[in-house]
Amino acid sequence: SSRPHSMSLMSQCGEEQVAGEYSKHYVTLKQIGKGAYGCVKMAYRRSDRLLAVAKFILKEKVGAQFWVDGPDGRKVPLELSLLMTLKHPNIVSVIDMYENDKYFQMVMEKHGAGMDLFEFIERRPRLDEPLLSYIFRQIGQAVEYLHSLNILHRDIKDENVIIDNKFHVKLIDFGSATFMSKDTLFSTFYGTTEYCSPEVLAGNKYAGPELEMWSMGITLYVLTFFVNPFSDIEDTIQGPLSFPQVVSDDLEHLLRWMLCKEPSQRCTVLQLMSHAWIRQPVNMSQYIFHEIVDCDRHEANPEMYFSGSLSPRSGSPVSLALDPLVKERSNPSEV
Ligand code: ADP
Ligand code: MG
Ligand code: MG
Repeated sequence: SSRPHSMSLMSQCGEEQVAGEYSKHYVTLKQIGKGAYGCVKMAYRRSDRLLAVAKFILKEKVGAQFWVDGPDGRKVPLELSLLMTLKHPNIVSVIDMYENDKYFQMVMEKHGAGMDLFEFIERRPRLDEPLLSYIFRQIGQAVEYLHSLNILHRDIKDENVIIDNKFHVKLIDFGSATFMSKDTLFSTFYGTTEYCSPEVLAGNKYAGPELEMWSMGITLYVLTFFVNPFSDIEDTIQGPLSFPQVVSDDLEHLLRWMLCKEPSQRCTVLQLMSHAWIRQPVNMSQYIFHEIVDCDRHEANPEMYFSGSLSPRSGSPVSLALDPLVKERSNPSEV
């Protein structure tokens, strides 16, 4: 299966992306995945060979409303400014930022082997509900933190969450994020159509949190059943929510609440975090990553795999590191 397709905001990144001060500090390795997004690559720091992930943001593709004043008065993309400021165990952190004429170079921590939840789901993990709850509550914690700071992510979906071999997940990709305020409604949707709520697809203005809860509901449904709940825009607006398999009453209740078509009745993030299904006990010591999801040695244990393998003379660690990532990617669209 391919990732949800939407209008591409993608840029072709060439040699120019690494030009400048950035390359004095980092060696850029292969692209993550073989998909369309050419602007996220593995990299390592020259000083200590720390393996990291570099995202190259083409300045001309950053929309006018996505710029903010940086610390020294220069303009920086909101995506970069937010990730530099935010500090949360379930949100990816930025290590360094550089810029040249055309690009911002955002260096992030590498979390796990670089597997996102799209890839994870495609491997048909053998998840039970307590483990699913453990994974999903971490996304909830990130969103609770963001909403408490009046920040909307607006592109929550499986491929914007990365997972490591301890089932620790982090939210990435703040390219559609924004600040919200009580008396401002948005009229443009910047996320991915498959994750967009019915009222926004129908053309209504939105405050924000209720849209975010819908996209989290889609994410939880996809993690539960490995299929999308709705086949198209019309189905999202009109169609009934059905369940391909039997799940617990608590999970069914939560999914129906998050995917409630009426935004004012929809579950809020605070209601989510206090829901019985989210708060259920989980004994994490019984779950072993490579028993839950089929993976290669380096994915099961990336720390061991990468140690000592990054000498510039010793061939290409990256081709080994990236072999399993073969997905097509998508970018958010404006609706
Ligand atoms: P885009 O805005 O083009 O969607 P993302 O920031 O979502 O770019 O990155 C694209 C993909 O790269 C993600 O779906 C994920 O698979 C991978 N990725 C991005 N950042 C990281 C990271 N810090 N660690 C591991 N993988 C990452
Ligand atoms: Mg993304
Ligand atoms: Mg993005």
